[in-house]
Amino acid sequence: MAEDRAAARPQPALQMADAMLAWYDQHHRALPWRMTPAEQRDGVRPDPYRVWLSEIMLQQTTVQAVKTYFAAFTDRWPTVCDLAAASEEDVLKAWAGLGYYSRARNLKRCADIIVRDHHGRFPGTVEGLRALPGIGDYTAAAIAAIAFDRQAAVVDGNVERVVSRLYAIDTPLPAAKREIRARTEAVTPATRPGDFAQAMMDLGATLCTPRRPSCILCPLRTHCAALTDHDPERFPVKAAKKEKPLRSAAAFVAVDARSRILLRRRPPSGLLASMSEVPTSPFTARSDGETGCGAAPFRAEWQPAGQIRHVFTHFELALTVYRADVGTMSAPDGHWWSPSTDIRSEALPTVFRKVISAALPDTF
Ligand code: SF4
Repeated sequence: MAEDRAAARPQPALQMADAMLAWYDQHHRALPWRMTPAEQRDGVRPDPYRVWLSEIMLQQTTVQAVKTYFAAFTDRWPTVCDLAAASEEDVLKAWAGLGYYSRARNLKRCADIIVRDHHGRFPGTVEGLRALPGIGDYTAAAIAAIAFDRQAAVVDGNVERVVSRLYAIDTPLPAAKREIRARTEAVTPATRPGDFAQAMMDLGATLCTPRRPSCILCPLRTHCAALTDHDPERFPVKAAKKEKPLRSAAAFVAVDARSRILLRRRPPSGLLASMSEVPTSPFTARSDGETGCGAAPFRAEWQPAGQIRHVFTHFELALTVYRADVGTMSAPDGHWWSPSTDIRSEALPTVFRKVISAALPDTF
């Protein structure tokens, strides 16, 4: 079947796949969740658990930032069974700072299902992977190709850029996604599809960069329509972005006589569900008084400590930060005092780390 597909594949597609694999053998990035081409030739297969974990972490986050979290997770939970045995709270705490906390919750749910329903082994097909929580089309294809050598088209942001340039695709994103996927499918080889997928990712990350791509070094330069037109940076064409609405609120950093910070848990559903926070007024507050001290959870000598901005998927948030030294006080219901030695291990999303840093600059 794979041979039929290869026979039907136009010659340039075969040439492109060969060029990419040869380039990858020489220039692949060494990443902690990868097996090198040489290791794979020796019969060592990538661990699906590590591939899955890295792909979930890499969504919207840089490789550099992920390396630290990946090392911490795999030290603490070396297998999917270990992760399934962890509490959701511990997983959320370890995830704190990576953003998109629903991913951490899905990570835990997915590990539970793998252990409960799949005897601790990841399904080896795109369809089987796609049925698991937190695994969408891209991640299913990436795990299937990289960990199980399935001939799946893997299209992330880097690959979108490379392919839109290779074929000078004028349709703006996101409408161009269908064509980009079809083009990627057409060049994905039956042999070493996982290495091919990683080669395309690496090409986008290292040579086919958003600005000033290094076309002179590119293994695909003789196939590239955008280079022929002398204008690679024009691609991918993007639809004009809608401006995000701005919301305002106030955040209150209370510090007691032992330098502990008052925290509470966010509601179990909605934005940043079940994460820790300092007391904060609702994010829907307008900027006509509800962002002032009047929104504080209790009376104290609240002092302005600056403003921070944070961009969420659907809106931008401006938080006015207040700080008060409250001396000796018991924590109100549902709150707790977090010592400065523990604050880094609290499940605090980035937005609240920024808030605490505004009030107490040396905390993180
Ligand atoms: S030739 Fe340049 S623009 Fe085309 S794929 Fe290679 S690096 Fe990207």
